Amino acid sequence: MDDQTRQPLKARTLLAQAMGAGDPVTKALVPPIHMSATYLRDADNGYSGGYVYGRTDNASVQQVEALLAALEGAAEAMTFASGMAAATSVFLALEKPTHIVASRVMYWGFRSWLQKVGRYGHSISFVETSDLDAVRAAVRPGETGLFWIETPSNPLWTITDIAAMSEIAHDANAVLCVDSTIATPVFTRPIAHGADIVVHSATKYLNGHSDVLAGALAAARGGEFWDRIREVRAQNGALLSPFEAWLLMRGMRTLEVRVREQARTAALLASRLAAHPSLSALLYPGLASHPGHDIAARQMSGGFGGMLSLRLKGGEAAAIATAACVKVWKRATSLGGVESLVEHRASIEGEGTPCPADLLRLSTGLEDPDDLFFDLLRALDAAA
Ligand code: PLP
Repeated sequence: MDDQTRQPLKARTLLAQAMGAGDPVTKALVPPIHMSATYLRDADNGYSGGYVYGRTDNASVQQVEALLAALEGAAEAMTFASGMAAATSVFLALEKPTHIVASRVMYWGFRSWLQKVGRYGHSISFVETSDLDAVRAAVRPGETGLFWIETPSNPLWTITDIAAMSEIAHDANAVLCVDSTIATPVFTRPIAHGADIVVHSATKYLNGHSDVLAGALAAARGGEFWDRIREVRAQNGALLSPFEAWLLMRGMRTLEVRVREQARTAALLASRLAAHPSLSALLYPGLASHPGHDIAARQMSGGFGGMLSLRLKGGEAAAIATAACVKVWKRATSLGGVESLVEHRASIEGEGTPCPADLLRLSTGLEDPDDLFFDLLRALDAAA
């Protein structure tokens, strides 16, 4: 009993109470939004309040960062104006020409940006990071300084072994960054598996309501590289805005219950639809048939996330026709919100994408699972 009463608070409690963020002056339970772009200077020329200018830092932003750092088991977290701003800031903070090893399958928008990272003097190898031998073969001793993986990765939900990647990265004296947007800190805490920096598009599950653009990084430890990222954020004006930070923290209060429910629905749909005659494959890491299932079961605890993809036997036309027939699912890009979304991914990704043309990406929301299932079933039949 004693031990139980002394144990640290669980993530769900930290989230629900936003780690006690409130207003010490008025005792308001809900914290205010610190909108000021500038701060008063003292007569002695100092800044005793600790803040100088809004592009560098902000108290509302710091509140949400403290919460994210606690969830990820990180030393520190930083939030950004978008997931892209967070991700690109890591690369803009590299001081010398660096060889980067990155997942072949990852969020398309960032992959496109990385393809042109040569303009900053860096070089990149896109590798199937679920294949560790391929990763080892891609390492250039003395040149490879950064590994970038996304797991589960868009839109095939490929699983990369974070612990094994951390060994390879650290043997090469390199930094391992893990885009954990899909897993969320509820299912995976990459730092516990050896990651150096965790990346989130907080636009997705962390906020969860499709009404905020935000990004985040969480670091296993501070240090020179982390300080340079902070400098890049301030100089490029990439800090999250105070209003968005406040909304993000409000959204995060329900993160745990949302994502567990979304993962439950995704698992249910995956099991009910896996053998559907219109499908050539159903991709979901929670299915034992998924090639990354065993590793996912090791590094994801409590669920496999709310994302799955369908591959249609009828090809691209059948995929687009199925999406056209849904009524409950919404046709839209993005993911992780309370409304379920369906998307023909290849249409948005364009030429050269590793995404098959016959694929529909599904993001399960919080609707009734039966409503979602029967809507999909009707759409698959209508398009057959
Ligand atoms: N990482 C992943 C896995 C994503 O899905 C996205 C966006 O779709 C991003 C990063 C980029 O985030 P944002 O759209 O917030 O810039």
